[in-house]
Amino acid sequence: MIANYGYKDGSGEYYISIDTDQCITCPVGRACLGACPKGMFESMVDDYDDEVVHVKEQFRRSLAYDCAECKPSTGRGPLPCASACTPGAIGHSW
Ligand code: SF4
Ligand code: SF4
Repeated sequence: MIANYGYKDGSGEYYISIDTDQCITCPVGRACLGACPKGMFESMVDDYDDEVVHVKEQFRRSLAYDCAECKPSTGRGPLPCASACTPGAIGHSW
């Protein structure tokens, strides 16, 4: 399942998507949890009793602000979260 966390406002749409099917068999030891400098991801058990990762509730309405340091307007490099998740489960809409 693709789970989307985020919001849209007058400046754009800010969503992080997580392919939770990939998390169930994560081959990199949930590297996303330690990779994000803000600690935005956490492990949880979903409705199907599978252990997956989601974006913590307190970040879901402020992603543009919270991810700003990883996304400078110029010279943007690879995102730590997406780089750590080699299965490619993490996507960003902006
Ligand atoms: S590293 Fe990727 S696949 Fe593994 S738990 Fe995190 S988001 Fe899911
Ligand atoms: S872009 Fe940076 S701050 Fe945002 S979720 Fe990824 S690692 Fe965390």
